[in-house]
Amino acid sequence: MNYRGPRRVRVSEKPMPEILHPKDCVVRVTRSCICGSDIHLYNGLVPDTRVGSTFGHEFIGVVEEIGPDVHKLKVGDNVIVPFNIACGECAFCKQELYGNCHESNSQATAVGGIFGYSHTAGGYDGGQAEYARVPYADVGPTVIPEWMDHDDAVLLTDVVPTGYQAAEMGGIKTGDTVVIFGAGPVGIMAAKCAWLFGAGRVIIIDKLDYRLEFAKEYAQCEAYNYEDMGDPVLFLKKTTDWFGADVCIDAVGADATGSALQTITGKKLMLQAGAATALHWAINSVKKGGIVSIVGVYGPTDNLVPIGNVLNKGLTVRANQASVKRLLPRLIEHVKEGRLNPKGLITHRVPLEEVADAYHIFTSKLDNCLKPVLIPST
Ligand code: NAD
Ligand code: ZN
Repeated sequence: MNYRGPRRVRVSEKPMPEILHPKDCVVRVTRSCICGSDIHLYNGLVPDTRVGSTFGHEFIGVVEEIGPDVHKLKVGDNVIVPFNIACGECAFCKQELYGNCHESNSQATAVGGIFGYSHTAGGYDGGQAEYARVPYADVGPTVIPEWMDHDDAVLLTDVVPTGYQAAEMGGIKTGDTVVIFGAGPVGIMAAKCAWLFGAGRVIIIDKLDYRLEFAKEYAQCEAYNYEDMGDPVLFLKKTTDWFGADVCIDAVGADATGSALQTITGKKLMLQAGAATALHWAINSVKKGGIVSIVGVYGPTDNLVPIGNVLNKGLTVRANQASVKRLLPRLIEHVKEGRLNPKGLITHRVPLEEVADAYHIFTSKLDNCLKPVLIPST
């Protein structure tokens, strides 16, 4: 997969990835997914997304080659590759903040390295490809248990840990009312996980009926279309005895639908502040003293939050990239015991050669698409 500029991707031949550092391995990709985060890249909203780069931070595969300093993996292992690239040794990795590794991104701003996520996140090529170079191979990659379906495994690279961490950061207590904005794969997984933390009521909000129907069935939650509910904040206040929800989760992030493209003048992309509507709703509909958990990804242009309400309501706001490696052991258990069924989110299986179509379908929410998986032919 090769990025050519906003809303243009295609398949092209690239050199085979090589071991560049003794701690690297090379993985032959067997499955990769397209994520809502890729939409931000695809729309040209992430700074320093370079033409020619390969996206893809959700992939699994077979270890093809290992560097001399890799000791925990061997050639032939099937591995889950977390989307975060983490050195395992810096101060942040030591606290299991693998999404905030200080070494894997030479920009060393906030985010650590992420596969296929622009030079803002380290400039690594991703796994929507036949092969990928995986740095710090002894840290992130986790061998797929024999019993695990590989469709489940590929969703453990991001969607499951992100949904789970969204619920975890919400500090959900027994009986809590949890409202999730965004019924994409991440929001739906957050709804499913909210129950694992003891929620008493789970509400999901989106504008796409097919996703709301899916969420109702898959996560056994209430689901509402914000286009039919009048003011969503008022609706949520009313349904919670005017208190507001205990926890609100933003699983939307920058919503660039349409607006990003309108700002393209000639070849120059002007970045413009996003509306951050879901985040406004989350802050305004959570109860006083409540918690807002943000996993939706925002770019540098989305800083228009109602910060005054955060202060006046005494809110706790938590946000981060998911720390995949930290969560994998317990999530593998949840899948094994049948409490989580990640592969149930997959709606489309597409040959890698048809990646451009898959981006179009997923981004435009066509054909009831929820989660597309790309399958390389190798
Ligand atoms: P997605 O695009 O499939 O889903 C987003 C959903 O939000 C869509 O169904 C859309 O209709 C809905 N939506 C848009 N505006 C809304 C609003 N105002 N209120 C309620 N719903 C609204 O994306 P996804 O794959 O589910 O990912 C969701 C977000 O999570 C993205 O921003 C993605 O970048 C982010 N993400 C974060 C992490 C992390 O580690 N923090 C990891 C993966 C994805
Ligand atoms: Zn993702």
